[in-house]
Amino acid sequence: MRIVKTIQELRTAIAEAKSNHKKIGFVPTMGFLHEGHKRLLHQANEDNDIVVLSIFVNPLQFGPNEDFDRYPRDFERDEQIARNAGVNILFYPSISEMYPEEPMMIIQVKKGVDVLCGASRPGHFDGVATVVMKLFQLVQPERAYFGMKDAQQVAIIMNMVDTFNIPIEIIPCDTVREQDGLAKSSRNVYLSPEERNDAPKLYEALQKASDCIKKQTCTRSDVIALIKDDLQKLAYGEIDYVDVLSYPRLEPIEELSGKIIVALAYKYEKARLIDNILVNAATGKEC
Ligand code: AMP
Repeated sequence: MRIVKTIQELRTAIAEAKSNHKKIGFVPTMGFLHEGHKRLLHQANEDNDIVVLSIFVNPLQFGPNEDFDRYPRDFERDEQIARNAGVNILFYPSISEMYPEEPMMIIQVKKGVDVLCGASRPGHFDGVATVVMKLFQLVQPERAYFGMKDAQQVAIIMNMVDTFNIPIEIIPCDTVREQDGLAKSSRNVYLSPEERNDAPKLYEALQKASDCIKKQTCTRSDVIALIKDDLQKLAYGEIDYVDVLSYPRLEPIEELSGKIIVALAYKYEKARLIDNILVNAATGKEC
């Protein structure tokens, strides 16, 4: 595995791979790797000749009162995981390498950002889109892998690729969960033991909602109320949002039909967690 910290070195490594006609699979992350990231790396390995992993905690996508400084980091551990996962190139740039000065321009995401995390984290997806665009330009992969735990991010990146005619295939990968259902997340380390016991109830609430959709007897507001009701009973933390929208368009739909996303964000003391399920309203099956 080659660890590259500068854009110059990365360009050289990519040029070499391209000249050898290697297909590149790319997995962008913020590090503190877990099973969720490993799933993406595994898929990238299966589909491509070369796997590029980036680890970069992108300041542009954090709001002023968010957890940029506290975001968990452990490069040595990540390096080991990356090696074991068969990564060929690990891109680990500094902030000054990625942003030598304040960016002269950023991408403004116009659709799908007035809901879910876009509504509660203004500017977040502009920051995500900007860094992913930069990384795409540098890595020039055939395919890029994103987790459905961040389903809104997947929808927005797919729109970006469409809008700017970027010749990269976006591959969404299923959410990886702990045995008790909690979605794996780098931020889970910031849960207190009590909060950690509590947190699987987020997914339980989503599953209960999916059962309700399956019976085809409830409206969008019923589903939201059902989840909120469950979450309000939790001993710790507070609801950030609960919503039911069409997917991938992310539009409110009173009539539950087609592919829909049931999504929530929940704030514990030191960690804000998100989770979602996608349901085919016609069959009630998760998809
Ligand atoms: P992050 O490092 O949290 O920015 O995540 C990097 C990539 O890993 C994103 O595409 C995430 O959606 C994906 N990811 C994070 N957690 C999970 C998970 N539990 N299951 C699947 N993918 C995940």
